[in-house]
Amino acid sequence: CGIVGIIGTEPVAPRLVDALKRLEYRGYDSAGVATLEGGQIGRRRAEGKLGNLAAKLSFEPLNGNIGIGHTRWATHGAPTEGNAHPHATDKVAVVHNGIIENFRELLADLAKDGYLPKTQTDTESVALWVTREIDRGLDPEMAVARTLKELRGAFALAFMFKGEDALLIAARSGAPLAIGYGATEMYLGSDAMALAPFTSRLSYLLDGDWAVLTKNGVTIRDGSDAIVQREMLVSAASA
Ligand code: GLU
Repeated sequence: CGIVGIIGTEPVAPRLVDALKRLEYRGYDSAGVATLEGGQIGRRRAEGKLGNLAAKLSFEPLNGNIGIGHTRWATHGAPTEGNAHPHATDKVAVVHNGIIENFRELLADLAKDGYLPKTQTDTESVALWVTREIDRGLDPEMAVARTLKELRGAFALAFMFKGEDALLIAARSGAPLAIGYGATEMYLGSDAMALAPFTSRLSYLLDGDWAVLTKNGVTIRDGSDAIVQREMLVSAASA
């Protein structure tokens, strides 16, 4: 029920967990984070309280400077570690709030090409669809653009890609998502509360928007893929 992402200049896992704590008020049953190390996706996930995830990370740290995190309120699939986000293939990691209503149709289509789910979630259909687009030769941005056109339902999504150590993509349709602007880092999160420790400068995506974040800033597009400007706010929630 919460999303956070950081393109950072130092290991991000501890800050991802701190930001997720600030989203605890929304309720959740499990949590997870993923970072990139040496270009490869590494994940830690845990049932229950964020303390369980933090304990796991202290035994087996993730050291990447870019990452995404999630608190889950299960809608499809039991609240197990295996169903916790981020969901990932070898190409992409995804966190998702909301529901992908047509996930069964998506999975049926993906199965024809041998892309089979390992979890009971609606979310994994998104990870697999993006992966198939990348395998067909699209770059991450185009792969997400194509995928978003297939999705029905309400969602906030964030994507991180193998081998892309300064790229996150976010999308919003019916669930809130904000972009945060730092001096040398970029952030995304479900709300200003999540971003408050990092920056007070943020923009909310509007419904249908998707955003490409790099170290240097953000490009926001609307539902027809036209580049748009969204107002930058200075949040009073800042610490
Ligand atoms: N529908 C997704 C799931 O059940 C996301 C739930 C959420 O918003 O946390 O995994």
